[in-house]
Amino acid sequence: MIVDELRTLRALGPVGYYPYVSWPRTWLPRRLQCQLEATQMKIAFIGLGNMGAPMARNLRNAGHELVVFDIRKQAMQTLAAAGASIARSPREAASGAEMVITMLPSSPHVRAVYTGQEGVLAGTAPGVRLIDSSTIDPHTAREVARAAGRQGNPMADAPVSGGVGGAEAATLTFMVGAQKELFESIKPVLSQMGKNIVHCGESGNGQVAKICNNLLLAISMIGVAEAMTLGVALGIDPKVLAGIVNTSSGRCWSSDTYNPYPGVMESVPAARGYTGGFGADLMLKDLGLAMDAAKHANQSVVLGQVAQQLYQKMSLEGGGSKDFSAIINLYRKA
Ligand code: NAD
Repeated sequence: MIVDELRTLRALGPVGYYPYVSWPRTWLPRRLQCQLEATQMKIAFIGLGNMGAPMARNLRNAGHELVVFDIRKQAMQTLAAAGASIARSPREAASGAEMVITMLPSSPHVRAVYTGQEGVLAGTAPGVRLIDSSTIDPHTAREVARAAGRQGNPMADAPVSGGVGGAEAATLTFMVGAQKELFESIKPVLSQMGKNIVHCGESGNGQVAKICNNLLLAISMIGVAEAMTLGVALGIDPKVLAGIVNTSSGRCWSSDTYNPYPGVMESVPAARGYTGGFGADLMLKDLGLAMDAAKHANQSVVLGQVAQQLYQKMSLEGGGSKDFSAIINLYRKA
């Protein structure tokens, strides 16, 4: 239905930046505006892991022409089966694309994929918009965006929260660091992969929002673990204690939505042996980014450092792939 509406609009002929709209876009319902601005672009998607693969698939399902690249052949073949074409390098993926999106493990990967000899910047035409959704340090995000800007490519950092489930269901939250104009122009495409698209300010500020949130989450989870285990050791029922906390001033997301004490809540990792969820090693990575950024800003992060040590201990003891709420096991007898 919406595809037919868009075809009709497109047939109306070229006008300005939105070539197929011959009256002000704002006259259209918001849902249609988003679809219209985002329809049928050629998008290069690089990094097809746990997050990137479902995000790319959602763009394909929304009707975009996709060209993909990953260092893992299998990951590309899976997307090719869904109709994407395969490139041999980031450079080849970017050449001819109208937008480039990357979803990579960390800062060195992002730097290499954009600025390497066979990188995105070597292949992309001026004016093509670039979006990096990886979680990396704000400093690298700003440096790479500056390099892109020097050759005429506006670039946004747009890290996400919502996990693999959110990537699959297209319900991710995007935290976007970009000039307002760029933010507005990429929002329709991000809306096809997420439901909450937030402008956090200029370049790098999406990463700032992401790492500060995860710093707080890491600390609050340890706080809840500590309080819950102390309470139980002193004789209170964990469900009763959680009930009190969740209607009192200690309440937080780690206590009322993701409680780490087994048996307190259903459908959380603590109820299934800390499988699924957000791995402790990923939390450790984000804490490392926060610590590096804090050093850069000469800002103290006392509790963050303690949290980093505790997650490091958990990881060294073999718990890195468990959900981060398993940090509570450091407080409990085996
Ligand atoms: P992943 O390791 O599953 O995927 C990364 C992909 O990048 C892999 O397919 C890998 O082969 C590919 N890759 C690595 N180097 C490459 C290169 N040079 N060129 C092309 N491809 C390359 O990671 P993920 O879980 O998809 O996470 C991606 C990013 O999203 C990370 O920064 C992570 O911190 C962040 N994130 C992850 C989650 C989550 O729950 N997994 C949630 C929020 C944010």
